[in-house]
Amino acid sequence: MILSRNAVCTLRGARSLSTRASTILSALDIPIAAAELPGVYDGQWSGSGDVLESVCPTTGEVLARVRSASPHELHVALEKSKEAYLHLRTIPAPKRGELLRQIREALSAKRDVLGALVSLEMGKIKTEGIGEVQEFVDICDYALGLSRMMNGRVVASERPGHTILEVPNPIGVVGVLTAFNFPVAVYGWNFSLSLAAGNANVWKPSPSTPLCSIAVTKIIAGVLEKNGLPGAISTLINGGKDIGEAIVESRDIPLVSFTGSEAVGRVVGKAVQSRFGKSILELGGNNASIIMPDADLSLAVPAVFFGAVGTAGQRCTSTRRLYLHRAIAPKFLDTLQKLYSGVCVGDPLVEGTLLGPLHTSAAVGVYSNAVQRLRESGADILTGGRKYDQVALSQGNFVQPTITIPKTTDPADKIWSTETFAPILNVCFFDELEQAIEWNNAVPQGLSSSLWTRDLRNVGKWIGPEGSDAGIVNVNVGTSGAEIGAAFGGNKSTGWGRESGGDAWKQYVRWSACTVNFSDAAPLAQGVDFST
Ligand code: NAD
Repeated sequence: MILSRNAVCTLRGARSLSTRASTILSALDIPIAAAELPGVYDGQWSGSGDVLESVCPTTGEVLARVRSASPHELHVALEKSKEAYLHLRTIPAPKRGELLRQIREALSAKRDVLGALVSLEMGKIKTEGIGEVQEFVDICDYALGLSRMMNGRVVASERPGHTILEVPNPIGVVGVLTAFNFPVAVYGWNFSLSLAAGNANVWKPSPSTPLCSIAVTKIIAGVLEKNGLPGAISTLINGGKDIGEAIVESRDIPLVSFTGSEAVGRVVGKAVQSRFGKSILELGGNNASIIMPDADLSLAVPAVFFGAVGTAGQRCTSTRRLYLHRAIAPKFLDTLQKLYSGVCVGDPLVEGTLLGPLHTSAAVGVYSNAVQRLRESGADILTGGRKYDQVALSQGNFVQPTITIPKTTDPADKIWSTETFAPILNVCFFDELEQAIEWNNAVPQGLSSSLWTRDLRNVGKWIGPEGSDAGIVNVNVGTSGAEIGAAFGGNKSTGWGRESGGDAWKQYVRWSACTVNFSDAAPLAQGVDFST
């Protein structure tokens, strides 16, 4: 893999990153001189629990130390969230929409610098960091409109003088547990719909991205304060597994929206179910692209490149499996490898960089183990397969994007059936679309999928009952990069959750069927006679 000169030069001069970090943090009102930052907000900032370190994945620099919640602070924050909900539920939905409008404006004003913080702390390239904040802005717009459209229904009653209403009301306090890879947008998707619905929200972010959560919460808190509203409408509780477990187990939280790995999601889902709470689970993906011989390769190759290499393979929707029709496979792989060899790797904050680091050094270990397993099983490694060893990249978690042709095509094999959260693309070849669809569907996960073809018959099959069983079924669009308008989420072990657009808002309310009798009689349904 050739390192672009631009990126190497930039990293050679990267001594200025500390200055850049401080510029970004200052612009977001995050104190840079403080030894430790409070990581809990419930109207006031506090934090006296364990210390979380925010480590820059590009340089290994410690960006900040953040105090998580003590058990007492957690208790107080949950109590304040309950109180905040009691207040919020009395505010009419369109007025809550006006709050969202103001939050949208405040986020928009800080969009680029907040995007830069995402890039600094999480490691994705700046345009993706900014895009993530834009997603929060977009979903605020969506929820603002929704605040005047969260309609129930009037249903015909079989009894004279009766009418039935299906009524949505706020559900209470919503717990939002988020993953490291979308440290801003996932809270945004949940918070916006949930606030429009009238709920208070408790956010527990990933312990490795506390700064993004603090920056977002400061922006929201400013708007709440200006409107004289309780800050605990948007409570922030930084912490690790123990705090996550406490939120999941709390009977004060009727709805838990969890985004993260399948392994943790399995535990969370069971825990919420065991107390008869509601959960939204957005878990791991293992997404495939299928390329038919009639596909427009000038579109398909760059789309697979972005899907597999973008965000260094750390999107839930990243392309991890590539099924190529045998007729176009050599040409496709040749062109794809050329893009891989020219990828600009380096500091994600620098314009032109396309490949940043993995988020943590532990993730580098996961990548290396997966590559080793592939090698041992006889896979052909076409490109990549190692950590970058250039001095300029040595402080960060930089790994080479990798294309492999595994020896086995058995979708049940671990190589094909597990999500490795790194830029590894496994390829195999097919002759008939039916075979590729079977492979697409044969893994436990069901998040995103993509078919490249210009034949309408293939499209019909792909999006119909014999087609992809994923939650996202694209045609001539890659697996990653969804818009907010449609409900986002995956099936099977991805958890069946839906967030963002579509009908996702309906999960953030409690539904009641209300039969109202405005007659002078009280007949029973189904003609039941219980007269004395
Ligand atoms: P993770 O499962 O390690 O952590 C997610 C969150 O769960 C964190 O906030 C963590 O502190 C918390 N947590 C850990 N143990 C817990 C427990 N026992 N109880 C409650 N909370 C607990 O995930 P991650 O490594 O941060 O994120 C990567 C994963 O997230 C990938 O699998 C990715 O596919 C998935 N993801 C899915 C979507 C989606 O929409 N489907 C979106 C983004 C990420």
